[in-house]
Amino acid sequence: MGIASINPSTGETLKSFEELSRDQISDKLQRASETFRTYRRTSFERRAALMARAAELLDSEKHDLGKIMTLEMGKPLKAAISEAEKCAWVCRYYAETAPQHLADQIVDTNALKSYVRFQPLGPVLAVMPWNFPFWQVFRFAAPALMAGNVGLLKHASNVPQCALAIEDIFLRAGFPEGAFQTLLIGSNAVESIIKDPRIVAATLTGSESAGRSVASIAGNQIKKTVLELGGSDPFIVMPSAALDKAVETAIKARTINNGQSCIAAKRFIVASPIYEEFISKFVAAMKALHIGDPMLESTDIGPLATPQILDDLVGQVQRAIDSGARVLTGGHKLEQAGNFYEPTVLDNLDPSTPVSCEETFGPVATVFRVNNIDEAILLANVTSFGLGAAAWTNDIAEQDQLIDELEAGSVFINGMVASDPRLPFGGIKHSGYGRELSEFGIREFVNVKTVWIGASEGAAMGGNAKNAE
Ligand code: NAP
Repeated sequence: MGIASINPSTGETLKSFEELSRDQISDKLQRASETFRTYRRTSFERRAALMARAAELLDSEKHDLGKIMTLEMGKPLKAAISEAEKCAWVCRYYAETAPQHLADQIVDTNALKSYVRFQPLGPVLAVMPWNFPFWQVFRFAAPALMAGNVGLLKHASNVPQCALAIEDIFLRAGFPEGAFQTLLIGSNAVESIIKDPRIVAATLTGSESAGRSVASIAGNQIKKTVLELGGSDPFIVMPSAALDKAVETAIKARTINNGQSCIAAKRFIVASPIYEEFISKFVAAMKALHIGDPMLESTDIGPLATPQILDDLVGQVQRAIDSGARVLTGGHKLEQAGNFYEPTVLDNLDPSTPVSCEETFGPVATVFRVNNIDEAILLANVTSFGLGAAAWTNDIAEQDQLIDELEAGSVFINGMVASDPRLPFGGIKHSGYGRELSEFGIREFVNVKTVWIGASEGAAMGGNAKNAE
C-alpha cells in the first residue's frame, strides 16, 4: 500500500506521499543519533518546558488537528478533538511527573552509597497504528522524550498527515530537530531500521502479525521491544449490576472510535437471569446510533478506516452467521460510498468457533449467555488475547474473583476499559508485553543503572567482596 490520505467517508484520495529513500532514512537516523548525544544531557526542567509547550499547541490547535484525524481515518470529529486534548494531558502529566518517576532511588547496602539511576537509551523506533493516530504516538513520545530518549515514528501508511503534524508540533514546541522525526516509509523498511546500530529499541502498537515480525527482528538484534497488540476484551454483566448504566456503557465501549479500538469491549458475557432484558435494551440502543458523516456533531459512528477493514468485518460476520449466529440488528455494510458498516449485534455463537474469540474491528458486538460467574470467567479467558476486561457486578465476592481470575492487563469493575496517563496500560498473552503510561511506561526505555560507591579508603574496591557475583 502506498502512503496516502484517503478519506474513508468518500474514498477520495486527498494526498499521496513519496516514501523516503534509503539515504534519506539514513540521514534521519544519523540526525537522531547525533541529537541524542546532546539531548540526553538536557535537564528535566528544560524538557518539561518544551513538553508543556507541545501541550499548549495541542490544546490551542485541537480543532484543526481533529479535522486531519477525521479526514484521514474517519473517527467522529468530536472524538478526534478529545484525542488532541488527551495528548495534551499526557504531555503535561509526564512534564510534571518524569522527575519523580526517574529520580535516583537510594538503596541501603554495605556501600557508602548505593542507588539506582534511570538513564535514557537512545533513538527508539515507534511503529504506530492509525486508529488513535495522535494518542498512540503521544503516549510513546511524551515519556520517551522526558526520559531523554529521541524518537523516530513509522506511522501507519494511511495517516501520513497526522504523522507530519505530530513531528511539526514537537518542532514548534522547541525540541531539537532530531528529537522526534517522522519517517514516511512502508512496513517493508522497518526491518533494516531495527537492524541499524543507531536504533537501540522499538515499540509497536498494532496487529499480532506485525508484533511478531518486529519482536523477532529486534530479538535477534538483542534490542528491547514493547508490544501493544490486539484485544478481544470481554464485558461481563452479572445479575447485581446496575443494568441501565451497564447497557449505556456497553454501547460506548463497543462503538468507541467506530468500533476500532484495541480495548473496545468486543464480547458481551451476560448472566442468564438478566440476559433477555440486557439484549432488548442493548439492541435498541445500537439501533438508535447515528451512522454517517464523521464531521457532523450528530454522528455517533463514522466509516471504518480502510476498505480492507470493512471487507475483513464483512467476512467475520458472515463466518459467524454460517456457524449459527443470530443477527439481532445490523449485519450489513451500507451500500454507498465510504467504508460504512451498520452497528450489529450477534448472539447464539458457538464459543468454540474462532470467530467467537477473534478481534472484531468495527461496530459488531457478540453476546453470550452464561449461568454463573465461573462460566463467565472461563468464557472471558478463552481468547488468546489478554488486553483489558470489564465486569459489572455489585457483589463484592464476585468483584474479587473477577479481579483475581480474569487474564488481562487491566480489569475495570462497573466501568469501561480506558487508558489514563496515571495508570499502566498494556496486555498479556497475545496482546503483547511491556507497559505504557504511568511510571511503568517511562521506565520501559531506560537503563536501570545500579550505582555502588565504596569508601575511598579501607573498603573493598568494586563491590561487596563477600557476596561478589
Ligand atoms: P497493523 O497492520 O499491524 O499496523 C500497525 C503498524 O504496523 C502500521 O504502522 C503498519 O504499517 C505497521 N506494520 C504492519 N505490518 C508490519 C510488519 N510486518 N513489520 C513492521 N511494521 C508493520 O495494525 P492495524 O490493523 O493497522 O491496527 C489495528 C491493530 O492494532 C488491531 O489489532 C488493534 O487491536 C491494535 N491496536 C492495539 C493497541 C494497544 O494499545 N494494544 C492500540 C491500538 C491498536 P503500514 O500501515 O505501512 O502497513
